[in-house]
Amino acid sequence: MSVQLPLPETARAPEQVDSAHVRAVLPNLAYLRAAMVNVAFIGPANAQDRGWVLVDTGVAGTRRQIASGIASRFGTSRPAAIIQTHGHFDHVGALEELSEEWDVPIYAHALEHPFLTGQQSYPAPDSGAEGGIMPKLAPLFPRSPIDVSARLKSLPDDGTVPHLPGWRWLHTPGHTPGHVSLWREADKTLVAGDAVITTGQESAYEVAVQEPEMHGPPRYFTRDWAAAAASVRLLASLEPSLIVSGHGRAMAGHEMLAALHHLADHFEEIALPRA
Ligand SMILES: [Zn+2]
Ligand SMILES: [Zn+2]
Repeated sequence: MSVQLPLPETARAPEQVDSAHVRAVLPNLAYLRAAMVNVAFIGPANAQDRGWVLVDTGVAGTRRQIASGIASRFGTSRPAAIIQTHGHFDHVGALEELSEEWDVPIYAHALEHPFLTGQQSYPAPDSGAEGGIMPKLAPLFPRSPIDVSARLKSLPDDGTVPHLPGWRWLHTPGHTPGHVSLWREADKTLVAGDAVITTGQESAYEVAVQEPEMHGPPRYFTRDWAAAAASVRLLASLEPSLIVSGHGRAMAGHEMLAALHHLADHFEEIALPRA
């Protein structure tokens, strides 16, 4: 099995959980775990219409769960935009429906566009990656691209994030070519997508139990490990104080940061699949 980086319970970010299971970690940042993947809400609770941004859109079949989380936090207010950290099936499940319903632009890195415009499929998952049932099931996961080209835009070249003053997008490739993370320097907040995740995804047990651990990107879909390592090192160098990732609970504080540095410093031993 993989070398794990257990995180103590005290590394969990303090959260306020509402009745729809939306987990607020800051006044203007919350997330919701729908099935096995997180979506993030950037903007204050009860933001005005077009006054917040949705990051990622979950796995297929969770649209209603996401919608009820949104209703709980924002009432009937629609987001100004949807930002996709990347286009994997477990992060775009409700993208077509929600973007149409809200009539919103979708922002993603230009290198991710072929996977969001029906042009290209992701490479087959690495079913040889060690670690139990998820890699074995991975070949059954859908890989064919969705087509949201009518609403899709590139993130601005200057690193700013539309509708999110104070935030920057960071190119964090490796897991996918156009993977991005979102960063707010003022309070060192990181929305990491799958560049680093805070629970294991390689076994059904890990997915179910969601032990807090600091992991590199999910192995069975990651192709460019050199780029993935560089991305983790970039994120560690920023010294985040809070991480909301694509999988697992939000983590914060010096224990989280120590685990992130440990992952960055020993990435090849910890994160890479065993040959
Ligand atoms: Zn992914
Ligand atoms: Zn994912």
